[in-house]
Amino acid sequence: MTDSRTTDLPVTERTRLRRETERGCFDRSTIDAIIDTAPICHVGFTDDDGRPVVIPTIHARVGDTLYLHGSAASRALRRMAGGIDVCCTITHLDGFVVARSGFASSMNYRSVMVFGTARLVTDPAEVATALAAIVEHVLPGRKGEVRPDTAKEIAATKVIALALTEASAKVRTGDPVDEPDDLGTPVWAGVVPLRMVADAPQPAPDVADDVPVPASVQQVLATFR
Ligand SMILES: Cc1cc2nc3c(=O)[nH]c(=O)nc-3n(C[C@H](O)[C@H](O)[C@H](O)COP(=O)(O)OP(=O)(O)OC[C@H]3O[C@@H](n4cnc5c(N)ncnc54)[C@H](O)[C@@H]3O)c2cc1C
Repeated sequence: MTDSRTTDLPVTERTRLRRETERGCFDRSTIDAIIDTAPICHVGFTDDDGRPVVIPTIHARVGDTLYLHGSAASRALRRMAGGIDVCCTITHLDGFVVARSGFASSMNYRSVMVFGTARLVTDPAEVATALAAIVEHVLPGRKGEVRPDTAKEIAATKVIALALTEASAKVRTGDPVDEPDDLGTPVWAGVVPLRMVADAPQPAPDVADDVPVPASVQQVLATFR
C-alpha cells in the first residue's frame, strides 16, 4: 500500500476550530504522530435508532487510512460496515494543569478528531494489511512473533477503513493561564506531567520459565519505561 500523504489537510466547515483556534493544527505529521502513538481511539457513530454511541477501540494507520477492526458480530462493526458517517477521536493526556482557580484549571493534551464515512474492507490483501497493522500498532514486531491468522479468525473479523482526509489536531501545552488578580497569591499552581508507563510483564501461567520475553515486549517496555 502506498503512502501518498499530504502535508496539510484542508480545513473544512466541520474541522475549523471555533474555540482556542491557536491550539488547532492540520499538519499531517502532527496528526499522524498523535494517531500512531496512542494505543486506542474512541469512535462515535449513531446506532440503528439514530442514538449516539461512542466506543473505545484499537486503531492503526496505514498511510492515509485509519483502520478499525472487531468481531463480525459486533454492533459497532456491523453498523459501520453499512457505510455510515463516523467521528474518531484520539487523545493523549499529558498533564494536569493546576491553576489558582477551578475555572482556569485545565489539562495538557494532544488530540485528533477524524471525520468520514466508514468503509467495510473486503479485499483480502487490504484486510491482511490492516490486521497486521493493528497488531503492530500495539506491539511493534509482534506480527513476526505469532502464527499467521487462520481463515476462520479472518472470517470472524470485520475491518473498517476511514480515509484521513478530514481531520484536525488540537494541542495544549504549558502553564496555567490564571486571572491577573490570582497571580502572586499564596496558592500553588503549575503542571503535573502525566505519561503512560509499562510495569514488569507478567507471563501467562502456562509459559515455561525458559521462554524469553520477546523483542516486541522488550520494545514496549523500553518505550513506556
Ligand atoms: C483531555 C482533554 C480534556 C478536555 N477537557 C475539556 C473540558 O473539560 N471542557 C471543555 O469545554 N473542553 C475540554 N477539552 C477540549 C475539547 O476537546 C474541545 O476542544 C472543546 O470543548 C471545544 O469543543 P467545541 O466542539 O466547542 O470546539 P469547536 O472549536 O467548535 O470544534 C470545531 C472543530 O474543531 C476541531 N476540534 C475541536 N476540539 C478538538 C480536539 N480536542 N481535538 C481535535 N480537534 C478538535 C474538530 O474538528 C471540531 O469539529 C478537553 C480536551 C482534551 C483532549
